Amino acid sequence: MSVRVVARIRPLLGDKEMEKDVIVTAASTEEGRAPTIVKIPNPKNEAEEFSFAFNSVYDRDTTQEQLFTAEVAPHLKALFQGLDVTIFAYGVTGTGKTHTMRGGLKLAERGVIPRLLSNVFRRGKKIAKDSDGETTVSVTLSYYEIYNDKVFDLLEAPETRTPSGLRLSEKDGKTIVMGLSERACMDLKDFEQLYIEANNNRVTAATKLNAHSSRSHAILRVKVTQTTGDMVRESTVSAIDLAGSEDNRRTDNDKTRLVESAAINKSLFVLSQCINAISNGDKRIPYRESKMTRILSLGQNNGITIMILNLAPMRSYHLDTLSSLNVSSRAKRIEVREIENEVVFKMAPPPSRSISNLSGTRQALR
Ligand code: ADP
Ligand code: MG
Repeated sequence: MSVRVVARIRPLLGDKEMEKDVIVTAASTEEGRAPTIVKIPNPKNEAEEFSFAFNSVYDRDTTQEQLFTAEVAPHLKALFQGLDVTIFAYGVTGTGKTHTMRGGLKLAERGVIPRLLSNVFRRGKKIAKDSDGETTVSVTLSYYEIYNDKVFDLLEAPETRTPSGLRLSEKDGKTIVMGLSERACMDLKDFEQLYIEANNNRVTAATKLNAHSSRSHAILRVKVTQTTGDMVRESTVSAIDLAGSEDNRRTDNDKTRLVESAAINKSLFVLSQCINAISNGDKRIPYRESKMTRILSLGQNNGITIMILNLAPMRSYHLDTLSSLNVSSRAKRIEVREIENEVVFKMAPPPSRSISNLSGTRQALR
């Protein structure tokens, strides 16, 4: 089981978001290296800065193609060799989770999911061709959401939903969703039609933070079946657009919103505990403690998990950004920013300053 945790900082949007309000930046451990660190000021003392370490950090200018090529494409070979792959987008509402996973309609704006499907179909066709038709590859799709800890099939019309949702059961050590539909998919066009239709069935409701804030986890599961004679090899790739991780005390919630919030917070908390346990190589992974982690059997199989932490760079997200960094990062460091000290020093030079502050100041005075 391997897990990668990467961060993606989204660009500024529209003319209301301005460079002067940017507080989140990417940095590298050494000059010339790709960034692996996210920096953000300490809200209680802005002279201090927190640094959070990730496997990789994607800055504001990263394209959809670059992200896909670096983080998803390398695992497709493993998928066809029989490993399960899971990709999560985690973060505050408005930070780019849906953009990252689904993306826009234009080719260049397509997100992880359509690119993934396009690659799966291409690879499947090639395998069939290279085997002279001895191997057949079929792709089926399930798409569902977890809302208030209940599972709803997004490939079924909302009117047919039972209010209590679908039941879970265990089979061969795997969790299965009872009665979940599966649709065969021949090509990208097939997929897109299903996907657009299904997305209209998602539960969204207005909150103060975002008019179409997603209050549910949406899970797309793509099953790849390769058959050669009697031999059948099955593997799945799951792509998940999680509910927003914002602090729900600030969203002016009514009762429904508060029930939603409790369910969202609980499942995201368990998710972060599972990710931590997996990356530490712990034996016990608390995946049974929420439906979302249970359905994914997180850490139970021999698969690959990629968590993408989406971040908005602006000050208006400060506290929520910090809390999502705390949940997802593998390491945190605090440092005193030299630039802040320079200002203090110039105004009133105190007699005893630390060496590092003095050297920073000397550079500034030169
Ligand atoms: P979330 O799903 O996390 O609530 P969205 O994906 O809806 O956030 O993103 C919020 C807004 O920011 C959308 O208008 C989206 O198009 C835009 N956006 C997010 N990330 C990017 C990006 N990397 N490049 C351009 N626009 C982006
Ligand atoms: Mg979204």
